Amino acid sequence: MIEDKNQQRTDLGDLGEFGLINHLTKNFKIQQKSTIKGIGDDAAVLEFKNKRVVVTTDLLVEGVHFDLSYMPLKHLGYKAVMVNLSDVYAMNAKATQITISIAVSNRFPLEALEELYAGIETAAKLYGVDVVGGDTTSSKTGLLISVTAIGEVSNDEVVYRNGAKPNDLLVVSGDLGGAYMGLQVLEREKEVYKVNPNNQPDLEPYTYIVERQLKPEARKDIVKLLKELKVKPTAMIDISDGLSSEIIHLCTSSKVGCDLYENKIPLDPQVISTCEEFNIDSTTVALNGGEDYELLFTIKQEDFPKIKANPNLSVIGYITEEAAGLHLVTRADTKIELKAQGWKNFND
Ligand code: ADP
Ligand code: MG
Repeated sequence: MIEDKNQQRTDLGDLGEFGLINHLTKNFKIQQKSTIKGIGDDAAVLEFKNKRVVVTTDLLVEGVHFDLSYMPLKHLGYKAVMVNLSDVYAMNAKATQITISIAVSNRFPLEALEELYAGIETAAKLYGVDVVGGDTTSSKTGLLISVTAIGEVSNDEVVYRNGAKPNDLLVVSGDLGGAYMGLQVLEREKEVYKVNPNNQPDLEPYTYIVERQLKPEARKDIVKLLKELKVKPTAMIDISDGLSSEIIHLCTSSKVGCDLYENKIPLDPQVISTCEEFNIDSTTVALNGGEDYELLFTIKQEDFPKIKANPNLSVIGYITEEAAGLHLVTRADTKIELKAQGWKNFND
């Protein structure tokens, strides 16, 4: 499908490695004071003065993490940046620089990589991060993209996973399950397309969830909001795998238990209706779906008045003693042990 979109196909071999790197990176502008030297030397040079530096990296592999038959390359570039920025924000830090490494097979023309880099550039500009380096190499099979993100945070503002205490409130930003249901819709449309390529998919009723899958946004705004509200989370993690496993990570690190209330889990109406259509339980999707890139954090009870009116934040439960264990309190008011794969499988 990538071939269809680009009339022009410039062979990567025509440019050579350095020509390619120059071509792809020529538009990047330095925005951060902490960037002393960006692309173009043996290494980038950064200066953070008295700040703590956070570093995080993710590797995305074609066929494992993304499918180019429905993932436009521009979106892939954008998403590859977002998944890393999300990890920086989960430390309550400011994202400042990224590096981009790609391995690419010769089935991709230059125009395809231009699309990928257009998405990276948009993300970098919008979130105010500098692209300060990377690596470019060839691959025998598909496309691999690895992003490393760097951020800064002062010592008294950094938030780890391990600070949650009994009676703290468990809070989540945005809503959950959208990215997973968006993927279900895209997978279904792909099958329909395979059977009959003349069938044009109608994604109109699924705009929100498809966007959640293809163009997630890291919650930079939530880090800013919490600062404005003068709320420092006691623990924080981003939701890349699904609410259930992230709660387990946070509670295990903090050596606490929790009660999560099923009826408090924020769901978009489109997630609910699409779950009905696919005959999947929406709570299961929120617990196990993944790729939502929302922030999950705990706050002290006394901070509740500061966040309670905010539509971006939902209190979904509270922290208990470790010995009490981790539970989902269902709508029927029964307690079920929280497991990484939820309390029932997708295939049941
Ligand atoms: P080296 O031989 O030292 O690895 P390269 O020739 O690979 O250097 O890279 C030259 C410059 O371009 C470096 O600053 C490097 O970080 C940057 N760079 C290389 N590949 C990419 C890429 N895919 N995206 C962004 N920057 C890159
Ligand atoms: Mg190199």
